[in-house]
Amino acid sequence: MKCPLCGNLDDRVIESRQNISGTSIRRRRECASCAYRFTSYEKVEEVPLMVVKRDNTRHSETQNNKK
Ligand SMILES: [Zn+2]
Repeated sequence: MKCPLCGNLDDRVIESRQNISGTSIRRRRECASCAYRFTSYEKVEEVPLMVVKRDNTRHSETQNNKK
């Protein structure tokens, strides 16, 4: 990925972290040339059936919390 500071294309990933729902990943990167640190985001382009499934998920979560 291109460094925003010097434009170098060579970088290394320091850290990768998913968000809570697992739909996106945030990467901490460090430029191999100037050591500038920046962040990139990666996410799924299409999320089919998300709306339909959300109800079912909520339902089972509520039941689990009752115990
Ligand atoms: Zn750089």
